[in-house]
Amino acid sequence: MLQDQDRIFTNLYGMHDRTLKGAQARGHWDGTAGIIEKGRDWIIQQVKDSGLRGRGGAGFPTGLKWSFMPKESDGRPAYLVINADESEPATCKDREIMRHDPHTLIEGALIASFAMNAHASYIYIRGEYIREKEALQNAIDEAYDAGMLGKNACGSGWDFDLYLHHGAGAYICGEETALLESLEGRKGMPRMKPPFPAGAGLYGCPTTVNNVESIAVVPTILRRGPDWFSSFGRPNNHGTKLMALTGHVNNPCVFEEAMSMPVREIIERHGGGIRGGWDNLKAIIPGGASCPVLPKDALEDAIMDFDWMRENKSSFGTGCMIVMDQNTDVVKAIWRLAKFFKHESCGQCTPCREGTGWMMRVMDRLVTGDAEPEEIDMLLDVTKQVEGHTICALGDAAAWPIQGLIRHFREEIEDRIKAKRTGRMGAMAAE
Ligand code: SF4
Repeated sequence: MLQDQDRIFTNLYGMHDRTLKGAQARGHWDGTAGIIEKGRDWIIQQVKDSGLRGRGGAGFPTGLKWSFMPKESDGRPAYLVINADESEPATCKDREIMRHDPHTLIEGALIASFAMNAHASYIYIRGEYIREKEALQNAIDEAYDAGMLGKNACGSGWDFDLYLHHGAGAYICGEETALLESLEGRKGMPRMKPPFPAGAGLYGCPTTVNNVESIAVVPTILRRGPDWFSSFGRPNNHGTKLMALTGHVNNPCVFEEAMSMPVREIIERHGGGIRGGWDNLKAIIPGGASCPVLPKDALEDAIMDFDWMRENKSSFGTGCMIVMDQNTDVVKAIWRLAKFFKHESCGQCTPCREGTGWMMRVMDRLVTGDAEPEEIDMLLDVTKQVEGHTICALGDAAAWPIQGLIRHFREEIEDRIKAKRTGRMGAMAAE
């Protein structure tokens, strides 16, 4: 279990002063100019050595991503864009950073931008985060007033501007290229890749898009050293991580924990256990709505990290779990996600535009038991035709929850169809 002295986010619950003075008292903005003085290569190498993987869901190594940015400018400016869209259902961890510990993010933005040769950074915050935007903007203004941002930021000799941009509230704007489109003032529609943002991103210039938490942890990693960060978690899954528990736990919460902890221990320690006890657990969705559901049987020895989840045909995602107890109608729960993804599809590519609606309509029938048994395999087949055949990952995100449902709860779906046909009561409960 993570000890208090190893927590990066020391004001996660807003119990302390979130202003610059408070942040400095908790160790932030300490020796920032000295870190910058050590140079780009040193910073990128330290981040690589720490084993930090992107905290926004994909888990791509952060230091490696930074190293894709051009070392020398060809005349175009470079940008760091921070993805604060956080629209995945169940994911609500970056919100706590922005409203209670915003200076971790601002200091991280300065250091990371310097490492990527960027004199400007944009934070793209989701439309619904009104209070978070206010808190973050106040912190940015305060940092400007204190000389931490702007010309010769923090006395480092590096000129740096940080802008906060408020989105209008669309899930697809969390996809990095849709986010860039939206930031440029257009509809949030994902771009074809390549070119990748490191070559041609915001305004056609080299750009790196990182999640809020990935940037906010950087200053502490550099101060405490990569060995400290990589001492947590299994190889390839290092560090501490903001996670969340929602659903049928006794205490839903956001918390910072070491990577690679057993799922059961996390639920019991942070969430106060499952409502009705561990045996009342039915399933979890480990890291946001797009991660395939895992049933209780698979969770007895489950480990909360990237590799364990991938090996068990799910995904660590953002580490924000949805916990479902035995009372849950899991078919209906996944139907709800199918409806969400159908609503959020930007409609640009056919398999996603048509497929998400198609999948949702079959799911409608599975919920009420009004489907033919053959439709289960047909639905599975459609998810495979959507997966991997679209411009962005929303197609995959829509397909995976349904694949997880069929993989683990096929009997429950079949039983409902039979029950509906024979007039048993159970099926009606779903309506
Ligand atoms: Fe748009 Fe869906 Fe295609 Fe992504 S996969 S570009 S959301 S239509």
